[in-house]
Parts: sequence; C-alpha cells; structure tokens
Amino acid sequence: MGLCLFLIDNTMSIIQLSALPGDVHLATPGCPPEYEVENENMSRQLFEEIVSRSVKTKEWTRDDFEIGCPLGRGKFGRVYLARVKYSHLIVAIKVLYKSEIRKSNVEHQVLREIEIQTHLKHPNILSLRTYFYDEKRIYLVLDYAAGGELYKHLQDSPNHSFSERKAAKYVYQVADALNYCHLNKVIHRDIKPENLLLTLTGDIVLADFGWSVHAPSSRRKTMCGTLDYLPPEMLDGIVYNEYVDHWCLGVLCYEFLVGKPPFESKDTNETYARIRKVDVRFPKCVPEGAKDLISKLLRRFPAERLPLPDVMKHPWIVNNKGK
Ligand code: AMP
Repeated sequence: MGLCLFLIDNTMSIIQLSALPGDVHLATPGCPPEYEVENENMSRQLFEEIVSRSVKTKEWTRDDFEIGCPLGRGKFGRVYLARVKYSHLIVAIKVLYKSEIRKSNVEHQVLREIEIQTHLKHPNILSLRTYFYDEKRIYLVLDYAAGGELYKHLQDSPNHSFSERKAAKYVYQVADALNYCHLNKVIHRDIKPENLLLTLTGDIVLADFGWSVHAPSSRRKTMCGTLDYLPPEMLDGIVYNEYVDHWCLGVLCYEFLVGKPPFESKDTNETYARIRKVDVRFPKCVPEGAKDLISKLLRRFPAERLPLPDVMKHPWIVNNKGK
C-alpha cells in the first residue's frame, strides 16, 4: 500500500504548523514547482517537533490499548488490531519505527500521513483518530476497516473482476472521497486497489496517506508493478494537478471490470508507450456505459478528464451503484 497525498498548497496547515518557523514544503519530484521540497531539513526539524508534542486532549500511551493480532505489514512497521481498555472500542494501530523512518529519510511523508489523515473527515476516507509515541515508535490510531483490503477481494473474485454493481458502487465512493480531498486541496496521486480498504458494511475507505512512493507493493504481480496506474503527465515528469486522480479512477474502473489494468504489458517500455498513446482496448465484457465513463477519464489532456461530480452522476454509475 502506499503514499501519496500531498498538500496542493500549504494553507491547509495542520498540527499547528503556524506555530512553527517558516513554510513547509512536502512535495516530491514532479510536483508543481511551487510545492517543491525547498528544505529537507525543515521537514526533519518539523517532524522532530511534532513527534515530541503530545496530543492535546489526552496523553495516550500503549498501555491504553490491548494489542491484538497483526492486520498487515507496511514498510516501516506493522498494523495491529487493538482495543481501547475500559471503552472496548476496536481500532487499528499502525506502529512505525522512528529509526526506520529516519534511515529512509521519509519524515516529511510521515508528517503528511498524520496531518492529512487527521483532518480529512469523510465516510470513505480512513480516519486517523490520534497518534502517540514512545522512544522508538510512533503509533497511529486508525479506524478499523473490518472488510480488509479491496485488492484481496479483487484477487479472490472470479476473473479478478467485480460485477457492474460492485464496480459502480466502489467507483462512486472513490470519486466522492477524491472530490472531498480535492475540495480540501489534497491530491491523492496513488489510487489503486492496494490503497483501498473495506469497512464492515462493505464500503470503501481510502487508506494509506503515507509513503507508497517508498513502499511499492510487492503483491502486484504484473511485470510493470504499480506503473500501471501512472498518468501520462507523471510519466513525463511534467507539472501535474489533481486531474492525476481522475486518470487513476479511470484505470481503477477498468481493472474492476476487466480484472487487469488497461495498459498492462510484457515490459515497462511497452506500458509507458501505451499510457502515452492512451491505448485502451476494451474487451467485450465491458458494458457500453462503463466504456463511456472510462474513456472520459482516460484522456491525455488532464483538463479534458470528466469532473468528479459528473463521474458520480454518470448514467452507468447511477444505474448500477444501488442505494
Ligand atoms: P500500511 O502500512 O498502511 O500499508 O498497511 C499495511 C496493511 O495493514 C494493509 O495492507 C492492510 O491489510 C492493513 N491495514 C492497514 N490499516 C488498516 C485498518 N485501518 N484496518 C484494517 N487493516 C488495516
């Protein structure tokens, strides 16, 4: 699972950034120039300050939780099922090792995860309730997504694909979450089945607002790995905007219905070439309505991609997603 949110601008300051000196630039290469990493040291310093601050309302510690079975593993630690002692509230706790974070030089990405996930409140976005730390670790207390990874559900489905009904529901929910992110000046940049979890009721939650750039999924069994979701403008390393998420939504919709992403090829260069040409081939199984939607999202020129509110109102979505 992976990273990939960043602040479109730094007006969305979180965790009292305003109390800290200077601006914070949390972007990565390929981001619009105004978000370029201006001073790596600044994000390091900020990281130190933030982790050394307590959550205002309560000083949580590991002792407040009964830690249960592991739910999964990320690059810098594990995620566990946990229960708040006394209240018996079930949560997921992501345990990150400070030494690993420092070694990999990803302090700014941890900041992103904490900042963005704490402040985005939407039914289809995984909530980060609080965080705390000890000498060696940082603990992120997350809502528990009891349905697990969407990627696994997709792999376990016949032909690795979903019914129209399920695909339309999931695309609607991801579009809704992304629309909310964009309204809050946040671009996800890494939409793919590995980064989506399901709740107990089978609804999507966008997860992992951390560091997928540094933790490419080893589970994706394609020759090109996660290249499959890269929009052409990111491939070319040119300035991009929130429309990268619209592209990924088109790729996601295709994969849900076909069982593999549209530009999957034998080798990386061929995938690159197909992405650049927007060489999408629809098998017969893809209904006309879905073809129309996917074609309106997979456009070479970002501004031509269908706006997210229109995705949610698209006839194929409306007719298939159910209530
Ligand atoms: P991550 O470190 O975010 O990549 O998470 C590693 C794995 O832990 C994921 O692939 C999920 O299987 C699992 N996981 C992460 N967060 C949660 C959560 N809130 N609820 C349930 N499982 C989770």
